Amino acid sequence: MTADRSRRLILLGSTGSIGVNTLRVVENLDGAYEVVGLAAGRRADELIEQARKFNVKRLAVSEACAADKVRAALPDATIFDGPDAALKLVESTEAEMLAAAIVGSAGLPATLAGIERGMDIALANKETLVAAGELVMPRVKQHGVHLLPVDSEHSAIFQCLQTSAPEQNGRAIKRIVLTASGGPFRQTPLEQIRKATVKEALNHPTWSMGPKITIDSATMMNKALEIIEAHWLFNLGADQIDVIIHPQSIAHSFVEFTDQSVLAQLGAPDMKTPIQYAMTWPSRASGCSQPMDWTALSKLEFEPPDHERFPSIRLAYRVIETGGTSGAVLNAANEAAVEAFLGGQIPFGRIVELNAEALDAVEIQPARDLETILAADQTARTFVRQRIGR
Ligand code: NAD
Ligand code: MG
Repeated sequence: MTADRSRRLILLGSTGSIGVNTLRVVENLDGAYEVVGLAAGRRADELIEQARKFNVKRLAVSEACAADKVRAALPDATIFDGPDAALKLVESTEAEMLAAAIVGSAGLPATLAGIERGMDIALANKETLVAAGELVMPRVKQHGVHLLPVDSEHSAIFQCLQTSAPEQNGRAIKRIVLTASGGPFRQTPLEQIRKATVKEALNHPTWSMGPKITIDSATMMNKALEIIEAHWLFNLGADQIDVIIHPQSIAHSFVEFTDQSVLAQLGAPDMKTPIQYAMTWPSRASGCSQPMDWTALSKLEFEPPDHERFPSIRLAYRVIETGGTSGAVLNAANEAAVEAFLGGQIPFGRIVELNAEALDAVEIQPARDLETILAADQTARTFVRQRIGR
């Protein structure tokens, strides 16, 4: 991409898996972007190194000790700390693009603020749409910004949709099919899945990602969250979104059009491809991700998902039908349950059960505003923590 002037970029979640890949793409795009703000949770040393390398003077660090370390190392920089650090950074920094790569609903307030300040959003943080799609989508329209998907499946669908006029897409799409690798337990006997260890669940066969999304991939909650994400991004009903298991993770999703054509986007499983597409759209630029190795590829397999093995998928359709704060409840329950599993407090099989129990127990409200969403999020977390006796 040749830009007359660099676009200013704020990167939230810069020390994570998506964050680090985003900075590689920024380097690859060679001057198209100037990084003006970085936000991270706690990895002070990595953040300091990134700030020096990309000459970034405005930083957010949510954990206080890590913020002190960053302050000592970078005395000229402006550093925000505390749970609202990323939000404060976005509210006080001018930029054209915000890359939202914080994990969990912690990323929601800052992403909403970016939209309200007129920034285009490269969205990796799917939890934002799951919890608050009903607030986010109208604001994207109202502020005339672009919401560009980074999630590989949604980037695939977005790329396939570039082939028909945007105003026609509503009528032209019959349905979409999200591909899922099936994670590490695609063929594991059911009774063994229930008591899978953290190490087994973190061993993803095709993608290298942060711990939360890796566990979500093992429970298939990741696909459940992606169904809800697709519902909001592409304005589709529950009956227009399907899932298919595709163990090779090469075909990143399909769009079936009403004229019976089916388009897919293919590529090696490397997040730098969808990240870069979000950053160069509507153009393309020479990439820095893994190229496809067609000689190593002997077959592409597809099979329908087994709902007994992966009961999480049904929860997504339930949330789309229910609406209101149900997405915030499902998402927050899942975040709390994954944290408890990673902390050794519950067996693997309890994660999705707790999510369903939270949807049964927590009263669903209309998604009026951010406060209502955040209150539902807190109630669901408290519910899960009480259930597991913390
Ligand atoms: P990760 O755990 O590797 O990184 C998370 C980042 O968020 C870190 O930089 C962490 O410091 C930061 N963070 C956490 N809480 C914060 C807070 N309160 N304030 C500021 N920063 C905070 O996670 P990841 O795998 O990079 O995933 C990030 C998001 O992208 C998730 O929503 C995930 O679902 C989505 N996503 C990831 C992938 C992938 O390949 N990793 C693919 C698709 C979508
Ligand atoms: Mg995905």
